[in-house]
Amino acid sequence: LSQNINQALRTLKGKGRITDVNVAATLKEVRKALLDADVNFKVAKSVTDTIKEKALGQKILIAVEPGQMLVKIVSDELTELMGGQKVDINTKGDPAVVLMSGLQGSGKTTFSGKLALYLKKQGRNVLLTACDVYRPAAIDQLKVLGEQIGVDVYAEPENKNPVQIAQNAIKHAKATGKKIVIVDTAGRLAVDEEMMREIEAVKKAIQPTETLFVVDSMTGQDAVNTAKAFNDRINFDGVVLTKLDGDTRGGAALSIKAVVDKPIKFIGTSEKMDGIDVFYPDRMASRILGMGDVISLVERAQQAYDEEEARRISKQIRKNQFNFDDFLSQLQQIKKMGPVKDLVGMIPGMGNMLKDVQIDDDAFKPIEAIIQSMTPKERANPELLDASRRKRISTGSGRSIQEVNNLMKQFDQMKKMMKMMNQMDMRSMAKQVRK
Ligand code: GDP
Ligand code: MG
Repeated sequence: LSQNINQALRTLKGKGRITDVNVAATLKEVRKALLDADVNFKVAKSVTDTIKEKALGQKILIAVEPGQMLVKIVSDELTELMGGQKVDINTKGDPAVVLMSGLQGSGKTTFSGKLALYLKKQGRNVLLTACDVYRPAAIDQLKVLGEQIGVDVYAEPENKNPVQIAQNAIKHAKATGKKIVIVDTAGRLAVDEEMMREIEAVKKAIQPTETLFVVDSMTGQDAVNTAKAFNDRINFDGVVLTKLDGDTRGGAALSIKAVVDKPIKFIGTSEKMDGIDVFYPDRMASRILGMGDVISLVERAQQAYDEEEARRISKQIRKNQFNFDDFLSQLQQIKKMGPVKDLVGMIPGMGNMLKDVQIDDDAFKPIEAIIQSMTPKERANPELLDASRRKRISTGSGRSIQEVNNLMKQFDQMKKMMKMMNQMDMRSMAKQVRK
């Protein structure tokens, strides 16, 4: 059992600082994750360059591996790049008007229904409007959705002028006390002039409070080009990323934000009407990295770990003066981070390895009892602990003499390991200086 604790401690204990070596390895992983997630190559490169600059020279929390710390820096950077905070759509107005734009098949009609239901659940009185005048089936599609979610749909099957239909819908909303009008429009399979002129005209005529650009997140690089084309013409207010269900990792979110600099406001996660989520940049960052658990480990460690204490202990280690007081303090810091089993489970690879092993916070209790039975002088100077003192400690703590001896042995091993790590550190530092 104590061997397992040792193992956990060893893994949790940091290497002290972020160096070129561990940055390079982690950034390689990050770049791969970004490209896998369909992030534009240039964006991925500039992201990893920025991160490298920020990471080198960051002080490290002792309880966390530099690699994990780096992941946290990466995830913060991605979050920032995607806008940092969530941004709500503007639904103020009498009525508020939300205009959908985007290519055919991107999910405009589906999302119109989802948004209507989402707003209805908030107690808003919503009207859906069918402005896709090219495909008769489009009106029916919206009507079916409206019926399904209990929201009225405004349509004029004989009218081929989307501008007029949208204007009439707003008049109808005012007359019937609807507070939000959602205008679904027609798209084409590719960007073309006629579609752009039409959406431009509708936007100009109805002055929407919110214009959303709807895009299929599975279209990767095309999504970025389309976003740019639409934004250049209609200057939309926000982006809706659809089809983020399955294993689509959402790199489009990063690329689109980088290219058009407009907030992503919603994501679509299924074909069903409840498949809608507000866009949270931090959640998308961990999704893109596919390393959610490591990130939460780093965050927990950061919250719990007293940085002053960390700095003090690492100084002790460097001076080879690590003693039982420091050992106890480290145990307590680790306990503050949460149930040990959780923490160990979050470390990639560890969870599986230790799944049959009993690790709980009680595992630390015997160790704590033994250390607490030492006098302050003994804790600070472990070399004082001869046989007779060990016997006294055993009686005082109610642990067997063997357990006391084991702890001494472990402590000695730990010190040796630290000494070795210090020497290695010195050597690599010397190498850096020589370079
Ligand atoms: P429009 O041409 O832009 O109006 O696109 P539609 O709303 O008609 O959607 C095109 C297809 O994509 C339909 O088969 C939808 O069911 C599907 N779809 C839309 N949004 C999502 C989504 O978030 N997830 C999935 N899996 N399918 C979606
Ligand atoms: Mg449609």
